[in-house]
Amino acid sequence: VLIAFEGGEGAGKSTQVRRLQEWLTSEGLVSRATFEPGATPSGAGIRSIVLDRAHTGIASRSEALLYAADRAQHVHDVLRPALDAGEVVITDRFVDSSLAYQGAGRTIPLDDVRMLSRWATEGLEPDLTVLLDLPPEEGLSRARGRAVADRLESESLEFHQRVRQTFRALAEAAPDRYLVLDARQTPEEIAAAIRVRVAELLSG
Ligand code: C5P
Repeated sequence: VLIAFEGGEGAGKSTQVRRLQEWLTSEGLVSRATFEPGATPSGAGIRSIVLDRAHTGIASRSEALLYAADRAQHVHDVLRPALDAGEVVITDRFVDSSLAYQGAGRTIPLDDVRMLSRWATEGLEPDLTVLLDLPPEEGLSRARGRAVADRLESESLEFHQRVRQTFRALAEAAPDRYLVLDARQTPEEIAAAIRVRVAELLSG
């Protein structure tokens, strides 16, 4: 079973990934928590290039290819082996992040990003995607003070609004595969809603 977490900056994905994994462990299930970009050795190199745009001056198309390369390696080294071993796999970001950031954010046609992603993942899709939805103004102010703040603020508010709208549109287009949660709820409320949906998925 593959569960992806998506959302903008400061939505609380990493907290919720950790809480879900703790709950799965308490239920006696073997799980693997991972993330993009940068979860493999080659991916770590890619991460430092794509997250340092100010210095690398990377163009949108190269950026899209690097995210796809990171994802291909992630699927090959981490996701596929863990899924084949029967683990519950939780990834902090997956294909939808590329549709939102490289597609809507950097204005690359979504179908191009979709095609690139499908090739990179060999068609692997999540069984469930949890979208932690938050107005970008709020996410950015939450993220402020963290190391990522400078990078985040290098993009316009419109960029982050396009990202959010795209995540929401993807979820609306495939409601069975998405759990959309208002990230302004308390972490406890969010964790509880995620547990209900994941329990359903695992029993189905
Ligand atoms: O998940 P996390 O916040 O650590 O992601 C780091 C950053 O990488 C995000 O803030 C986002 O700006 C960027 N990113 C991106 N395209 C992706 C994944 C992440 O631009 N496909």
